Amino acid sequence: MDKPIQVTSSSMPTLDEYIEEIKDLWESKWLTNNGAKHARLERELADYLNTPNIALFTNGHLALEYIIEVFQLKGEVITTPFTFASTTHAIVRSGLTPVFADINPTDFTMQTDSLESLITEKTSAILPVHVYGNICDVKEIERIAKKYKLKVIYDAAHAFGVTVNGESVANFGDASMFSFHATKVFNTIEGGALAFKDPNLKQAIEAYKNFGITGPETVEYIGGNAKMNEFQAAMGLCNLRTVDQEIEKRKLVYERYLENLSEVEGIMLPSIPKDVISNFSYFPVLFDSEKISRDEIHQELMKHNIYTRKYFYPLTNQLECYRSKFTPNHTPVAQNIAQRILTLPLYAKLQLDAVDKICTLIKTQFNSSKATDLKESIST
Ligand SMILES: *Cc1c(COP(=O)(O)O)cnc(C)c1O
Repeated sequence: MDKPIQVTSSSMPTLDEYIEEIKDLWESKWLTNNGAKHARLERELADYLNTPNIALFTNGHLALEYIIEVFQLKGEVITTPFTFASTTHAIVRSGLTPVFADINPTDFTMQTDSLESLITEKTSAILPVHVYGNICDVKEIERIAKKYKLKVIYDAAHAFGVTVNGESVANFGDASMFSFHATKVFNTIEGGALAFKDPNLKQAIEAYKNFGITGPETVEYIGGNAKMNEFQAAMGLCNLRTVDQEIEKRKLVYERYLENLSEVEGIMLPSIPKDVISNFSYFPVLFDSEKISRDEIHQELMKHNIYTRKYFYPLTNQLECYRSKFTPNHTPVAQNIAQRILTLPLYAKLQLDAVDKICTLIKTQFNSSKATDLKESIST
């Protein structure tokens, strides 16, 4: 490839469209603190996500930390290590202890069979991840949470706009966090949101992200600062107009990968359940390490200026900063998957012939390893 192909590329409006959207800020001089664009984006997102209660944040990570604080969680939170550092950090930075459940070997979401065995009298919440936009077993998680009176917060950073049986992903659990980071399906440059079940939480959530201020002379909470500003909201308003077309283009890329790679023996491709409308956020492939290693493909593509990512390796319970704090052996499936998974480039503007080239390189690598196998079996 002459030009490098990154794993993702941010969706953006035309420069003219963005300028048009921000022009009136030079009149109003209202740049942050619940401006008109913030208010409009909040309404439009509630509409798009088909969810009643929403609060915007300057990023997804802080949204997660703030909802943990608003819920006043204590003790232990059950989560998974197969995620971005943010999920685990949000728990630890809140002074809580993450307890790691293992993941399913096919959709990589939280495994629910052994979930109850991880619950102790210290457990206050479950924080599962809709990883790659794959939706967790929300029914079973809800059943268990009810039984033990636990809060459920979903890390839905990957799942913007996904529906299951017509139900929006934003309506599962007590709250869900969305990330609008530049690399996500829908972006506000940096940004995020909480969708939450209890409408009475709105006042506290809004106050917490603005220093706990509830009136001109009242500060009711020890809040911080996590507000979305008007330039972020303006980017969101522009991107929301085209997000459906962007997802449609992602779908074409996704299907092209499937077409190209479905015959290859030794890799597991992603699949979308019949009742799910996907956002085609990632294309994770799982290598059968017996045949060919994930690292080989990662290296080989890099030689051709194609950049894949080992999402999620290392697991969060193996990160440098948590060394010797956790026991990764307790999540053997996650440990195994983390060694074999690779996410391929996927974004709306990725050309289909580039997808073909990426797939040809992968297939060539498989064929040459097969040839080596054959040689070895002949010589032994
Ligand atoms: C992106 C991401 C986050 C953090 O979101 P930011 O908006 O970047 O703060 C959290 N969890 C997961 C799984 C993510 O991919």
